[in-house]
Order: sequence, then structure tokens, then C-alpha cells
Amino acid sequence: MSTGGRLEGKLVLITAAGQGIGRASALACAREGASVVATDLNVELLASLKAEDPRIDARRLDVLDGAAIRALAAELSALDALFNCAGYVHNGNILQCDEKGWDFSFDLNVKSMYQMIRAFLPSMLRKLETNGGSASILNMASMASSIKGFANRTAYGASKAAVIGLTKAVAADYVRAGLRCNAICPGTVDTPSLRERIAANADPVQAEKDFIARQPMGRLAEVKDIVPQVVYLLGNESSFVTGQAVLVDGGVTI
Ligand code: NAD
Repeated sequence: MSTGGRLEGKLVLITAAGQGIGRASALACAREGASVVATDLNVELLASLKAEDPRIDARRLDVLDGAAIRALAAELSALDALFNCAGYVHNGNILQCDEKGWDFSFDLNVKSMYQMIRAFLPSMLRKLETNGGSASILNMASMASSIKGFANRTAYGASKAAVIGLTKAVAADYVRAGLRCNAICPGTVDTPSLRERIAANADPVQAEKDFIARQPMGRLAEVKDIVPQVVYLLGNESSFVTGQAVLVDGGVTI
């Protein structure tokens, strides 16, 4: 039965779908008629997501675990869309970023996407070859990347810039195969991890004011400001868009 949804008939996998932008994206994709495989490290968050929308196939997946990624890719049918959302904010300038923080940032923010794409792309390409049509990979970058520098975002900015480079390379390699690859670059979004970053500050009230002050619209983004762009980039409406770093930043880069 047709739902008329914008992602009807599509199999969509999302990483880090337990909370924040990934979770809101999983719920929105399901509402738009997609079959959603929502993955996260945290099984409690996945259970609450499943309770919120029982149509969602919730699976534990640690995106640092290459073998687990390959096993999931072998188990699932070919995806129509993949949203690599997992990422981590390291706080600190270069002198405050030791090798552990640097490596963890690149492992979680970039290598995870390399692993996910390498595991899921072959079956996506086979499906495109057989059925035609188009498929989409969306990678989570940030306005803090090659787009704009921010204080205390050395490993974060560098790793999110790498996400944009990875995105453009994949887009260039597979544009003729019908596979599109884009990056989404949000401004500061009110999510559980942002709340943790604010709370970890010596003066949380001032820290929140500072985050808001850098947003010309005078407010933080909410997940609902970001999710329509995710749905658009995962679906056929963006069929002529590939290799782009799409900003949703509330005017920070005006
Ligand atoms: P969040 O940081 O609040 O939640 C992250 C989720 O990732 C959690 O559910 C956690 O369990 C999961 N996770 C952590 N490690 C994992 C792993 N190894 N494998 C699988 N899942 C794991 O969510 P958010 O703030 O919406 O951020 C999501 C993405 O958006 C990140 O890539 C982040 O860098 C990016 N982003 C966030 C903002 C923002 O202001 N919140 C802005 C720009 C970009």
C-alpha cells in the first residue's frame, strides 16, 4: 500500500541513531515511508527508539568495529540510502589535543565512514546496476570543518574537514553509477551531547550564552531544523545534488 512518503520503498540505514540528529532522522525517514535500520552503540537508546516507532529495525552497531560493520552489511539487503551520522566533539586547541584525542576523533568521525562505505557500497552498486535508479550516501560533517574554524575544535574541525574530502571523492568516483554522496554541515544543534558539553563547562550558563551568541539567528538549531535536509539529501528529491557540503547553520557563515 502506497504511503505517499518521500522515502517510500527505500531501505535506509542510519548510524548513531540513538539520540540527537540521528534519532530524529530515523523517525523522520520512517514517517516518510522508508524501511529504517537504526543503529547505535547504546542499546537502551535503541530500545526507546523502537518503542517510539515499532516500524524501525533497531540494531546495535559500534562504528569503530569494522568486523561488526561488515557482518551487518553481509546480513542486510542492499541499501538505497546510508546516513553516516556518528561523530564526536573533542574540545581543545592543538596543545590540548593529545594523540589519543586526535586518533579517537579521526577513528569515530572519519574512519567509521570509510568502513561503512566500503562495507555497504558494493551491494548498493550491484542494485543500481541491476535496477537503475539512484542511491544516496550522506555523511555528517559540520560547519566547523574546512568551512569555518572555531576555537577549541582542532581535532573536530580537522576530522570534519576530512569528512567533506571523503564525501567529494566518493561522489566523484560513483557519479556515473547513480550513487550520490553529500555531506551535511549543521550549525550548533541542541542535542544531548551539546547539553553535556555545556554542563562540562566551568560556567555552564555562560557557555550556553556563548554557543547562542555565535548563531546570528539568536538561537541554537533544533533537530527539526536539520532533519528536513537529511530527508531531502537521502531521497530522490535531491537527485541532481552530489559532492556537496550542505550547510544548515542559521547564518553563521553569512
Ligand atoms: P549526540 O552526540 O548527542 O549522540 C551521538 C550518538 O552516537 C549517541 O546515541 C551515541 O550512543 C552514539 N555513538 C557514540 N559512539 C558510537 C559508536 N562508536 N558507534 C555507534 N554509535 C555511537 O548526537 P548529535 O549531537 O546529534 O551528533 C550527531 C552527529 O552530528 C555527530 O557526528 C556530530 O559531530 C554532528 N554534529 C552535531 C552538531 C551539534 O551541535 N549537536 C553540530 C554539527 C554536527
